[in-house]
Order: sequence, then C-alpha cells, then structure tokens
Amino acid sequence: MQNILIAGAGHGGLAAGILLARAGFSVTLAEQKARAALGHDWEDRFTFPLLADLVGRALPPDVWRCRGDCAFVSPAKRKRVVVRYTDETRQRIMWRKPLLGMLLTAAEEAGVKILYGVRVTGPLVEKDRVVGLETDAGPLTADLVIDAAGVFSPVRQGLPAFFGIEARPRRGDLFYAYRAYFDRLPGYETPDAPFEVYLYHEGEKGLSWFGTNDETCDVLLGRIDPLTDEKLRDLLSGFRREHPWCGEALLHGGTRCVIPVRRPLPLMVGNGYAAVGDSAFMTTPMNGMGIDLSLQAGRLLAETVTENRDRAADASVLWDYNREFHRLYGGAAAKNEGLKNTLLTLSAADVDFFFESAVIEASDLAGAGGTTKLGALLAKFGRGMRQPPAFFTLLGGLMRGAKVKKLYENAPVGFDRLKIAAWSRELEKLDIRFDA
Ligand SMILES: Cc1cc2nc3c(=O)[nH]c(=O)nc-3n(C[C@H](O)[C@H](O)[C@H](O)COP(=O)(O)OP(=O)(O)OC[C@H]3O[C@@H](n4cnc5c(N)ncnc54)[C@H](O)[C@@H]3O)c2cc1C
Repeated sequence: MQNILIAGAGHGGLAAGILLARAGFSVTLAEQKARAALGHDWEDRFTFPLLADLVGRALPPDVWRCRGDCAFVSPAKRKRVVVRYTDETRQRIMWRKPLLGMLLTAAEEAGVKILYGVRVTGPLVEKDRVVGLETDAGPLTADLVIDAAGVFSPVRQGLPAFFGIEARPRRGDLFYAYRAYFDRLPGYETPDAPFEVYLYHEGEKGLSWFGTNDETCDVLLGRIDPLTDEKLRDLLSGFRREHPWCGEALLHGGTRCVIPVRRPLPLMVGNGYAAVGDSAFMTTPMNGMGIDLSLQAGRLLAETVTENRDRAADASVLWDYNREFHRLYGGAAAKNEGLKNTLLTLSAADVDFFFESAVIEASDLAGAGGTTKLGALLAKFGRGMRQPPAFFTLLGGLMRGAKVKKLYENAPVGFDRLKIAAWSRELEKLDIRFDA
C-alpha cells in the first residue's frame, strides 16, 4: 500500500498527511479553497504542544495570547458563576490562519502534494472498497482515502449504505454559530471576568459569548437551529445594549459556520476509507472544541497505517485506529454529549434553578462538563432535590452518558460487521434526544 489521498485540508487530515509523508507514503490532498483562503479569521483554544510537536516548530509569539477569567451567565442573567484561572490553567488562544498555515507548511515540507482549488464531489467506490475520489478536476485514485472534508463531507455522505457509516447529522448534532470581532469603544472599564459565556442565551437552546479584549469585542452567537438575519441583528443589538463598549465596525470574522456537537461516529472506517476530524464529528460537544481531537486522530491513524504498511487500507486494520480513538478520546466525548443533550432537554427555568441553587458550580463549568463526577453531583443532592424532576433528568442523563462512555471504550475487538452493528445498536439505545 503506497498511495494515500486526503479529502479536504482539515486539521486531522493534515496531521495524518504530515506523518505519513514523512514515513515514505505518497500523499496527495485535494482542497476546494485556495491556500490564502484557508483558516477562519478568529482565535481558537487548543493544546499548543500538540501542534508544536507535530510540525516540529515552536509557535510564533505574536499569534497567540491568554484569555481572561470567564463568567458563566445563567439564562435569566440573575447569576454569574466566575471561573478564575491560574497561569497554568488559563486558556491559550491562537489565530486560526497561522495555525493552519503551520500545518500546511509542515505538510508541504514533508512532501504532501496539495491540490488547491479542487473540489471533491464524492467517493470512488468499487465493489466493497473506496478506491479514490470524484472531483471537479476528474477522478483521483488511491489505496486509501482519508476523509478530512469537515462536517458536510461529500465523501462520507456519498458512501454506499453497506459501509454502515452514519451519513448525515440529526437535529441537535450541529451548532449553528456566528462569530465576529467588533471594535471596542473607549471610556469603559474592562469587566472583572472579561470572557462571558451565556447558557440558554435569551432563553433559547444554545450558547453565546461576549469577550472584552484590549481593542476588540469577540462575539459568538450559537443555536441548535440556523440563525436568521433578523435573529442575528436582534441578538447583536441585545449584546450592544448590555455592553455599550461594543462598536459597529467589523474587524474580523463576521461569518456563519457550523460545529458538530455530538458523539463521534461509532464506525468511521471501511475498506479504503477512514474519517478524521469534523467529518467524523470529533469534538467535545459541550464546548465544540475539535482541533485537539482532530490532531490526535490524525496521529493515531498515521501510526496504524505505518505499522501495517501492506494491509493498511483494509477495514480490519483501520478498525484498530477506530477502536483506539474511542478508547482514548471518543468515550469521553460521547459522555460529554450526554450532558449537553440532557441540558437541552431541560427548560431555561430549570437551568436557572441549577445555577441559583449552586447545583452547577464553577468547578463543573471549568472543564465543559468533562470533569463532572457523579460523586460530586451527589453531594449537591440536597440542593438539587428542591426541584426533583429536573434534577433526576440531569442525573439520569449523566448516568446514561457514563454508560455510553464505557461502551465506546470497549468497542468489539476485530472488524466483525455483525458485532459492530450490535454494538452500534446498544449505543443508539443510550442516545439522549431532546424534544424539538
Ligand atoms: C465558530 C467556531 C469556533 C470554534 N472554536 C474552536 C476552538 O476554540 N477550539 C477548537 O478546538 N475547535 C474549535 N472549533 C471547531 C473546529 O474548527 C473543528 O472541530 C476543527 O477544525 C476540526 O475540523 P476539521 O479540520 O476536521 O474540518 P474543517 O475545519 O471543516 O476543514 C475541512 C476542510 O475541508 C475542505 N473541504 C470541505 N468540503 C470539501 C470538498 N467538497 N472538496 C475539497 N475540500 C473540501 C474545507 O475547505 C476545509 O478546508 C470551532 C469551530 C467554529 C465554527
């Protein structure tokens, strides 16, 4: 096995491409955009050493900074839970364009052939195997296709049903966001906790934030359904009323985008095919962070392929990557989806109650629910029992999330389609859906 094709310059695909090209594989990547157009015009939080190790370079000092303390604001805005960070725990954020630029440069230096301006339209399938990609520049063939084309990947969506890979996200699996930086007007003090996160913002299912920076105001508005122009205008006006230092001049971003906020695909490989990053829904659902998981997935996939050079394109080998990803990361992400979806089944008033009765505290919010322990929640039992239905819904959701995690971490050994289908059905039974 020698030739590898990557669909889309997603972070996980670039990570895998860098390592596989360094290991001597012939790697080609098809990306629909031009190089200069890649990367969002905003700052993101991720684990810096992961990137630095991968590209073999330190991050330039002028493209990142530390975020201030964070205030979580309850739906009715009566309560603010402030998370204070230490130098060690403080969130570090970096502009996305240089982040992606570092990955692209490392890929080019490793010998990955990047075809910019080539749009992938679907997989090329022969019998039970993906053998390449259909593109607007003609078909491209390869031994293995790595799908890094993001949440709406035409490769994943074009796979035949017998691959058993979920094609499309469902309602609630996606977070529709708008992100923009506006100018900061002078004459106002910086808030004590300058990064404010609004849960159930304006009583609606979703989350928004308002960050007060030295010279800009960083706004994110997000809901589980697409945001109309009118809704955006209303929400921005509301933020400006509450933060009169937020100007009208758009300095960065100003675009709509989508983040997967669900469990990663249970099955994400097939003969000749492996998905990484958003195309396999690899984010932490409560906060939508996907860069770390994408980079880790790319590294795991490259290791699996390199260790099994001759048969690496077979589903039986790629399944090892799939299993290992779930053991290390997928289980935690799936558990986190349980918390996110449970919160969405509650009303804004229920969430207000949890804030106001200290059932939700700073320690629960600092890790986006990732550090929420059942034991710690039980300690809040007395407080939560003042509103039993909502409290039991929350507890039940957390317990189902813990079961899903265990199942993810114990996926079937060996690529046995029947066993994997039975395992997926077990996972499906523990799915927490919220009412439309
Ligand atoms: C507003 C916002 C804020 C976020 N903040 C953070 C954060 O702070 N921290 C964090 O970790 N994550 C954050 N994320 C999530 C993060 O962006 C993703 O989870 C992460 O980038 C992984 O996605 P990806 O690289 O797999 O896919 P993408 O970033 O979607 O990349 C896919 C690539 O494939 C290309 N492509 C798509 N279709 C085709 C096609 N048909 N043909 C050819 N090429 C194609 C695209 O042009 C793109 O280059 C945020 C996302 C958004 C939208």
